[in-house]
Amino acid sequence: MEKLIRGLVRFRQVELPKRRAMFEQLGAGQDPDTLLLACADSRVVPHLTSSMEPGELFTVRTVGNLIAPAGADGVALGDVSEAAAVEYALLVLNVKDVVVYGHSKCGAMSAALSGKAMTEAPNLMEWLRVATPTMERVKRAELVDHSLPFVEQLSQVNVLQQLDHLRTYRPVAEREDAGELHLHGWWFDVTTGETHVYDSDRGGFVLLDETEAERILSNAVPAPHLTFTD
Ligand SMILES: [Zn+2]
Repeated sequence: MEKLIRGLVRFRQVELPKRRAMFEQLGAGQDPDTLLLACADSRVVPHLTSSMEPGELFTVRTVGNLIAPAGADGVALGDVSEAAAVEYALLVLNVKDVVVYGHSKCGAMSAALSGKAMTEAPNLMEWLRVATPTMERVKRAELVDHSLPFVEQLSQVNVLQQLDHLRTYRPVAEREDAGELHLHGWWFDVTTGETHVYDSDRGGFVLLDETEAERILSNAVPAPHLTFTD
């Protein structure tokens, strides 16, 4: 906590004077064009690794970058706060892109894989049930990258599974079908600090470098669809 408190004071003394105008402008509102769903893991810092500034990235963070799917009535089959953020991002902020940002060494994926009962953490246990379809998918389906440890394959497949959960929300599905919204599956390697993007044509996650970035931007960003069957 001491580092956090001293960091806030240092930011106020050193960085804030340089960014005063930016913060004054942010007071007028926000206009992000992308919603990013990331894990709560402290090693995942999307604003740092994407060079984004405040106001540019609408971010939702959950344990395991999970989002419960919607039921028939459109209401989340689980915690509704993530779904509320999705609705706000689409219907109020009118974002054009949604990213599920998984990562390596994910504790939630390890916990889901271990299947160990944590009786002292009933909420965590309940939340990890959102990853159950991911577990089932990994067991029966073609995996994304066989060269990776199994838990990392799980975290990559989980990105695709959570994209499918997002598609159960009517505003997401309707806007994607209309070409007004693009969904992306990305995966951050905490050991290298690099981001990999899912490409359905190549059937896996590809390192996002200058070449890949140009390819994505010139192709109007195709939405990732699963290459394996349910
Ligand atoms: Zn995680």
